[in-house]
Amino acid sequence: MSKFWSDVVHKLTPYVPGEQPKLDNLVKLNTNENPYGPSPKVIAALKLEAADSLRLYPDPNSDALKAAIAEVHHLQAKQVFVGNGSDEVLAHVFQALLKHSRPLLFPDITYSFYPVYCGLYDIEYQTIPLAEDFSINIDDYDQPNGGIIFPNPNAPTGVPLSLATIEKLLKKNTQSVVVIDEAYVDFGTESAVSLINTYPNLLVTHTLSKARSLAGLRVGYALGHPDLIEALIRVKDSFNSYPIDRFASAGAIAAMQDTAYFEETCSKVIATRVALIKDLTQLGFDVLPSGANFIFAKHQVKDGAELTALLRQKNVIVRHFKSPSRVAPYLRITIGTEAQSTALIDTLTEILLAA
Ligand code: PMP
Repeated sequence: MSKFWSDVVHKLTPYVPGEQPKLDNLVKLNTNENPYGPSPKVIAALKLEAADSLRLYPDPNSDALKAAIAEVHHLQAKQVFVGNGSDEVLAHVFQALLKHSRPLLFPDITYSFYPVYCGLYDIEYQTIPLAEDFSINIDDYDQPNGGIIFPNPNAPTGVPLSLATIEKLLKKNTQSVVVIDEAYVDFGTESAVSLINTYPNLLVTHTLSKARSLAGLRVGYALGHPDLIEALIRVKDSFNSYPIDRFASAGAIAAMQDTAYFEETCSKVIATRVALIKDLTQLGFDVLPSGANFIFAKHQVKDGAELTALLRQKNVIVRHFKSPSRVAPYLRITIGTEAQSTALIDTLTEILLAA
């Protein structure tokens, strides 16, 4: 049968998200969700919202949510843009801010959604290889460009850059928009938000999917100069005036306001990460430094694809990337609860002893 697709759609290579398995007896360490549930205050806020007002459209400007986010980051509400998950925020960022006559720059191992957005919006881009140790070398981003984007910590490696390094990059790149995707920043990486009032070309994106444990609610945001935010709002209003539904808004506000719960759960994840890295090292893994709620680890002998498959047979699910070849030996492992870490280590020990 003939396909009635347009040429545009034929050219797209969409993003492939991590598996969301239908089985529920798995040790699920593949998509960087938070192992702890959202704050109990979020659940209370959702119940209240459900009882009250779903008949009505949400606030198209999400004023209350922007105010809650601005307060956490010591910024003004006009420096905040909100969207339906940071993937949607990033889509607007690419469309509104990153299409120029010069190529957009990003690392050659990074969040695989970036080239997808470039394909969708016809944005020319150039990838810059990571250094030998998988770090981003900001001296490689000196050339004239149509913008720079990368996650800090990087994904899927988890390797963080210091705030001083980000500032060095901003000092050298005053003529283009620099986007730092801080999806995982709360797990021990320095945030660039403190530089926003100094550098009007800096945009920082965040998500509530990870540290605030609300992946199912779909809320993300961008922080930056009001001019950058205004550009994003124009794109949003040309696309969907109500990206944040009433439920998402109520839950996200409660999550942003519960600082104690946020800090406690982030600390627990970081402590589990430290212990897991130690255990994996003892089992013969090399683990990259991580400032995220996941680690990137390769076994000194066993192949990454094979280990992933063997773990899966034993109901432990981690993420494996086949390409580029440099990442193929690695497993990307989400930090779960202590019990999940123990299950992972026990299963790996079993697999490695049987080899
Ligand atoms: N940025 C990076 C680097 C990510 O890994 C993810 C999660 N896949 C996102 C952004 C998007 O997260 P969300 O859409 O859940 O906010």
